[in-house]
Amino acid sequence: MKADIWRDTMATKINTLTANISSRKAMLELKREQLLGTSRDREEILIETLPDPADRVKSLTDCDIAVQRLDHRSRLIHDIDAALEKLQNHTYGSCERCGQPISSKRLDALPWSRLCFACQSDIESIERVPALHFKRAASAHPKNATPSGAALRGG
Ligand SMILES: [Zn+2]
Repeated sequence: MKADIWRDTMATKINTLTANISSRKAMLELKREQLLGTSRDREEILIETLPDPADRVKSLTDCDIAVQRLDHRSRLIHDIDAALEKLQNHTYGSCERCGQPISSKRLDALPWSRLCFACQSDIESIERVPALHFKRAASAHPKNATPSGAALRGG
């Protein structure tokens, strides 16, 4: 009787784990598809010959933004590919820097995370300028602001 309960519990645990992994895989593949499918940014990159200098400036600014977006996207695709590979190798979910498990909360938000929150914050404090840029962008949307960020700065 006891053994049956134990077995059922274990089976449920294993099922949940498998479901988690396959849902992560599905999410990663979907995101990858979305990133590869959007060609709009690539079109924006084509520099047009515009007669008006003001239009030309605007076009260059748009191009700059498009290049940044492409850069961000190719890095994201690279991270997603790495995450999919780690799912296959059963090393998914551990930090590439310290080897500690990445929290499932973090993986829920960013399934392609390569680093745990502490290591990511460490790296961001080294690359101070882009981190500040990101924080400013995030604070424009209060729903993106997480209390964990404040807690980390405090400690
Ligand atoms: Zn780490």
